[in-house]
Amino acid sequence: MRLPRFEYVEPKTLKEASKMLVDKGSVLLAGGTDLLVNMKHRVIQPKQVVNLKAIPKLDHITDGKDGLRIGTLSTLHDIASSPVIKERYPVLSQAAREVGAYAHQSMGTIGGNLCQGNRCRLYNQSFFWRGVRPSCFKTGGKLCYVVPKSKECHSAYCGDLAPVLIALDAQIKILGPEGERSLPLKKLYTHNGKKPLSLKKGEILKEILLPPTSGKTLYLKWRLRESLEFPIVSLALHIERDEKEWIKKANFVFSAVGPGPVETPEAEKMLKGATLEDGLIEKVSTQAVKEISPMRTSIYSPAYKRKMAGILLRQGLEKISS
Ligand SMILES: Cc1cc2nc3c(=O)[nH]c(=O)nc-3n(C[C@H](O)[C@H](O)[C@H](O)COP(=O)(O)OP(=O)(O)OC[C@H]3O[C@@H](n4cnc5c(N)ncnc54)[C@H](O)[C@@H]3O)c2cc1C
Repeated sequence: MRLPRFEYVEPKTLKEASKMLVDKGSVLLAGGTDLLVNMKHRVIQPKQVVNLKAIPKLDHITDGKDGLRIGTLSTLHDIASSPVIKERYPVLSQAAREVGAYAHQSMGTIGGNLCQGNRCRLYNQSFFWRGVRPSCFKTGGKLCYVVPKSKECHSAYCGDLAPVLIALDAQIKILGPEGERSLPLKKLYTHNGKKPLSLKKGEILKEILLPPTSGKTLYLKWRLRESLEFPIVSLALHIERDEKEWIKKANFVFSAVGPGPVETPEAEKMLKGATLEDGLIEKVSTQAVKEISPMRTSIYSPAYKRKMAGILLRQGLEKISS
């Protein structure tokens, strides 16, 4: 499949890239493992592609007093193999190793992973395949085939790194025409399938900051094959306990069950001040399943996704309690 025609630019600084991005019809290119596939399928047809890769000093992984700083162009392979990440945040290293296949990990960047497009079985298809019916919200139309009476797009966010980083309370730094701003990573996601990111025109994700952490964090990914697969459902869970084993903090973040990474605050609350025992684990898993609303955006039914989400949470909590 061929790429459509586009203009290609290679800015040398982030400021220059941001200016170029303000032009209507421009998109950012990092590793290209998501963007170029979407361009070949004509789901995105930009006039101009702004390649970030010629900008120096965006692929750092540095350890500081306030935590670990990861540059947006660090590849998933860099993250999976970084000694400091392996030692301090082994769960992030594991999640990076679980993305797609080796080629995606060596080309794909953390910035591209967090900003990757939402997915839907009726949208991530060739132009020819989609051509037999009118466009959906995501491709410029006015309807959603997944939820026909809906007034919005229900495509699903299926990234592997965002749930882990949100569970670890990561912050991000964004550079745009009005300067730099920082925000919690979870605020990057709008939960609106048509425009899933809260980035404004010309804004670029520059850096991820991981604060020091304690407690246990797991990432559980349910997928068809061990390689080359987006999650059917995945879950990052982070639990902090005090010296008497009472739970101080619980974060659960699911992927592939909604238009952004999905948290389940009521289920998290049930664990605060409690200890992990069998009866409670079952109740918490049941509550979390009530808080997610997967749609039929892949070949798997919402009922199956809910069931697997509950099983993943139960397995994760049992593992942490043992
Ligand atoms: C067969 C296949 C399997 C895959 N499996 C998985 C999987 O299991 N898990 C998973 O998470 N992903 C998967 N992916 C998606 C993709 O490979 C990864 O998410 C990868 O990390 C994307 O990074 P990239 O640098 O290649 O992004 P790109 O393709 O370059 O960019 C992706 C999007 O992010 C935007 N972007 C990139 N950098 C920035 C930035 N700094 N600021 C703002 N926007 C930016 C781009 O404009 C584009 O819209 C798969 C892809 C394929 C084709």
